[in-house]
Amino acid sequence: MRQPAILILLGPPGAGKGTQARLLEERYGLVQLSTGDMLREAVAAGSPAGLAAKTAMEAGGLVCDEIVLSVLEERLNASESREGVILDGFPRTLGQAEALALLLRKRDQKLASVISLEVDDEAMIDRVSGRYSCASCGEGYHDRHKYPATAGVCDGCGGATFKRRPDDKADTLRERLVAYHAQTAPLIGYYEGQGLLARIDAMQDIASVQEAMARIMAPITV
Ligand code: AMP
Repeated sequence: MRQPAILILLGPPGAGKGTQARLLEERYGLVQLSTGDMLREAVAAGSPAGLAAKTAMEAGGLVCDEIVLSVLEERLNASESREGVILDGFPRTLGQAEALALLLRKRDQKLASVISLEVDDEAMIDRVSGRYSCASCGEGYHDRHKYPATAGVCDGCGGATFKRRPDDKADTLRERLVAYHAQTAPLIGYYEGQGLLARIDAMQDIASVQEAMARIMAPITV
């Protein structure tokens, strides 16, 4: 039986990890595992992990590795992850990358590829500060770059309620960017050294990024 494909999407907030992960899900039947989504769910549910994560998330800092690993491992074990997974927003530190390597070794699995979505900081701030999404289906929109075809109505599901992430505010966003450069960007060299890294210029439009992604996926999904 073919091993499930394990992919990592690396990139600063606003690089388009979530958008591309959703497209990969549709096209290849993989499951997006976003630690940010899992932590937001834990915060909303008021679980012990959520309560512990809340302060760091509100400040734009990183949640401690122990909590992140516990929420992720639970989901990796779930049957929905059998075809393969896209890790979106994980790992974010070298400690998490090493913990992931150990976890995969225990499961006799390997990383297929680590895709680095590269954008410049100012463009990232522009993208993130205007984004919002449909509260029902999660389809993403932007104040300046992507509107629903009919104002106030989601193109994807017809929903009329939209939401913005509280940590997309400019000051929190700058903290998230600082955390990315200090703690996550070193993973680019780490995975490059292992021959696993593929870089994509994520300043291109969504379709071009998707094409670049398809070229990376071709040898993985045959
Ligand atoms: P994201 O949705 O990926 O932008 O994540 C939102 C927030 O959740 C981040 O700013 C962090 O506070 C927290 N977070 C998500 N993933 C991780 C992770 N792998 N390690 C630590 N904190 C995380």
